[in-house]
Amino acid sequence: MIREIQEPAEKQKIARTILEALPDWFGIEESREGYIKESANLPFFVIGSGPEDLATVKELYERGVKNGVEGLYVVGKEELHRMEAGLSDEFDCALVAPTGALVCPYELTFAAVGNAMDNGVELLLNFAVTSIDDDGSRYTVTAADGRKITASCVVNCAGIYADEVARMAGDDSIKITPRRGEYILLDKAEGNCCSHTIFRTPTKMGKGILISPTVDGTLILGPTSEDIEDKEDKSVTQEGIDRILSQVRPEMPKVNTGSVIRSFTGLRAVGNTGDFIINNPFGRFVNVAAIESPGLSSSPAIGVYVAEMVRKLTGDPARKQSHVRTRRSLHWFRDLSHEEKTKLIASEPAYGHMICRCESVTEGEIIYAITQNPKATDMDGIKRRTRTQMGHCQGGFCGPFITKILADTMGIPFEKVTKHGRESYLNVGKTK
Ligand SMILES: Cc1cc2nc3c(=O)[nH]c(=O)nc-3n(C[C@H](O)[C@H](O)[C@H](O)COP(=O)(O)OP(=O)(O)OC[C@H]3O[C@@H](n4cnc5c(N)ncnc54)[C@H](O)[C@@H]3O)c2cc1C
Repeated sequence: MIREIQEPAEKQKIARTILEALPDWFGIEESREGYIKESANLPFFVIGSGPEDLATVKELYERGVKNGVEGLYVVGKEELHRMEAGLSDEFDCALVAPTGALVCPYELTFAAVGNAMDNGVELLLNFAVTSIDDDGSRYTVTAADGRKITASCVVNCAGIYADEVARMAGDDSIKITPRRGEYILLDKAEGNCCSHTIFRTPTKMGKGILISPTVDGTLILGPTSEDIEDKEDKSVTQEGIDRILSQVRPEMPKVNTGSVIRSFTGLRAVGNTGDFIINNPFGRFVNVAAIESPGLSSSPAIGVYVAEMVRKLTGDPARKQSHVRTRRSLHWFRDLSHEEKTKLIASEPAYGHMICRCESVTEGEIIYAITQNPKATDMDGIKRRTRTQMGHCQGGFCGPFITKILADTMGIPFEKVTKHGRESYLNVGKTK
């Protein structure tokens, strides 16, 4: 159903309902009020699934076009259900954004860090910064375990702890509030339930829960959105799961929400300015704080922007003459043809030794993850690089084998292998 709104006050009322429900995107009061004011003069259509769920998809379309998003279009019921057959019959229109895309957040991060290391960057793990001192020309950054590094410039990009790290350097202008987002991940059997990331049209309760395929063929549902106090509270709550399921079930009745393989929580770093905080408060200290959603999508642009800031602050250091520009995908082995795999296995038998049967991952791929930058050093590191432990058994079968491969390849005792660093040991010793 599409209806044109002509009354300016009604347009503004609808615009306010939507924009105030999207604090992640329109949290800055001044610009939000500007958009609402402007909406009185814009062509205005309301599109939705019924009188109780009218949504201003067209208004979002207009804004997208204005912001330079290419290829946006609105579809009616027939086209919508052709695109997404599993959607409830209740829905009769949608805004389609074909330039939107999915990315694997782990692989993107590994690729960026790994390429930096291939070009000479040193990665210090478990380096929890506890103090930052400036002698006027160099900073000394000290970790909880006493390790120290010195640097001419410091970039604070500590996520939910960016306010505390800023304070260590003398900047107390930042306050970060953790915003909990809970997710449910469904088995690959449900991965084909939809082929697009599906957002509900916003209501005054928020932009709602997404239903989305992942790059690995599973289906992800979430996130919730709740401001909390404790920066370490990554618990998954019954209320959060109920909220996700109560929205998804009526939207996609055929999704088998019983096939959950994992639920988890992430904390968005919400700042006190309503926007990303990227500044140079003094000296050669740079804040890249409050990078809340969509910080991952924004990260390439943020990187270029911050690199330029650092370049100016450090007096334009000489560029490297040459650098490694390419990187092999972490999943290169599974992309080989049968013939190529057979040939490789003949020379490297570890690629013929299946370790993870749920996700079909070989010993060779696990060793590759332990030996390539950034090198995996614990079980979660292997998991995020290879997908072992991410299937049905969640590591129940392959876990002990991976522990042994880690121990052997790193040259450490079996019982010193951890789940995620520090004291997170998995085994106390051998029983026989
Ligand atoms: C539920 C949820 C959904 C999201 N959805 C999307 C999305 O759909 N699209 C999108 O683009 N983005 C999304 N995001 C946002 C995205 O994940 C973040 O914007 C991004 O991860 C922020 O990157 P960052 O480097 O600033 O912080 P982080 O990724 O949090 O990294 C900060 C790092 O600093 C380290 N650190 C903290 N304190 C210290 C210290 N004292 N010493 C040393 N190290 C320290 C931490 O261990 C961590 O490694 C989502 C986030 C959440 C939580």
